Amino acid sequence: MSNVQDVLAANEKISKGSLRENADRIDQDRKFPHENISELGKAGVLGLLVPAQFGGVSAGLAEMSQALLEQAQSCASTAMIMLMHFCATSAIAAKGSDAIKEKFLPAIARGEQLSTLAFSEAGSGGHFYMPVSEVRQNEARKQLTASKSFVTSAGEADTYVVSTRRANASGPTDVNLYLIRKGTPGFAAQGRFEGLGLAGNASAPMTLKDVAIEDDTRVGAEGTGFQSMLEVVLPHFQIGAASVSIGIATAAFQAITARVGARKYEHAGGAALASIPRVQFLVAEMAIELNSARAYLGETIRKALAGDPAAMLDVLSIKVKASDACLAVVSRAMTLGGGWAFGRRGGLERNFRDAQAAAVMAPASDVLKDFIGKASLGVPLF
Ligand SMILES: Cc1cc2nc3c(=O)[nH]c(=O)nc-3n(C[C@H](O)[C@H](O)[C@H](O)COP(=O)(O)OP(=O)(O)OC[C@H]3O[C@@H](n4cnc5c(N)ncnc54)[C@H](O)[C@@H]3O)c2cc1C
Repeated sequence: MSNVQDVLAANEKISKGSLRENADRIDQDRKFPHENISELGKAGVLGLLVPAQFGGVSAGLAEMSQALLEQAQSCASTAMIMLMHFCATSAIAAKGSDAIKEKFLPAIARGEQLSTLAFSEAGSGGHFYMPVSEVRQNEARKQLTASKSFVTSAGEADTYVVSTRRANASGPTDVNLYLIRKGTPGFAAQGRFEGLGLAGNASAPMTLKDVAIEDDTRVGAEGTGFQSMLEVVLPHFQIGAASVSIGIATAAFQAITARVGARKYEHAGGAALASIPRVQFLVAEMAIELNSARAYLGETIRKALAGDPAAMLDVLSIKVKASDACLAVVSRAMTLGGGWAFGRRGGLERNFRDAQAAAVMAPASDVLKDFIGKASLGVPLF
């Protein structure tokens, strides 16, 4: 029986080992990293958020963040797959019925099942909490037809937490969440993911066509899906996405500080790029960006765990801060890396592409600023 510290130690070892070794190949081949997920699963990392009574280690936001930071420093594709899995697991563990928890959580804890979120729809885009699809009720049968625009681990995950409006919904937030298994008739991934970065994470569209919806697959009570998305999934996603961004930025910072020390100029008697004051100044700015984002992440987690009423504003803000810091650090690292970085050496160019996802993944940075502005001014969010 593992404990949280054992699982985190194994996560660190695997992240510094296989995840690092496989990262360039996964990126170049655009292949889903089955081998990484399987190794993390065997070490108990898939079960990090699963309560101990179902075989997991009952970890929370702080440990999830630590695990994702380590993974993202080596392979951001794998970290994003794990983030979506953690978000789905958090919803099942917090809101699932006893039957759903008993059916799915032990398999997740054993590392045998990967899960993910299927929330986003073309009809509402980045406003993922307001699906436009709706369950149809025909006599005793409920069916769902929906077009999900991006699903990380599409076709690869074993289960999907799917959002949709209830039959005859009273409005766009009258939502249910359902846990749907891979292979359910009518539910399928569509095409390949050709995104700029996170090339291994298979974030393809998925369609549901007349999928039979059973009440015993609902995650949470009738009509509570919107609340579950905001209260449970959102904090995990925001803090997890911030951790992935900071992990990517940390990798870029380490790569560029090593590079500017190693880059020597013959014409200057062997002086290193690192000896130029302007370079030192730019590296200092990068360090400040990265360290302040990391400190704010720690403070946000602390407030969220303490149930601080002000935590929600920080939970909304941290993804923006971490994404902005990451974009600033990787862009600057690309410039200081010169032809070496542009020539796709040292992993920086992969960090640069992977870093772009956070700003557009819902809630996008611009949408979050809309929320943060409203919350700061006391204007209702919706
Ligand atoms: C790599 C990747 C993985 C993903 N994985 C998943 C997943 O596993 N599950 C899932 O459900 N979804 C996933 N998504 C989808 C994601 O969460 C978003 O829903 C999606 O990226 C939104 O795209 P869109 O083009 O429809 O955005 P749009 O809604 O078209 O928005 C485009 C832009 O408009 C601006 N904008 C929109 N609304 C506002 C506003 N109110 N105020 C200010 N500016 C605004 C923002 O700049 C925004 O970025 C993933 C996306 C990516 C890129």
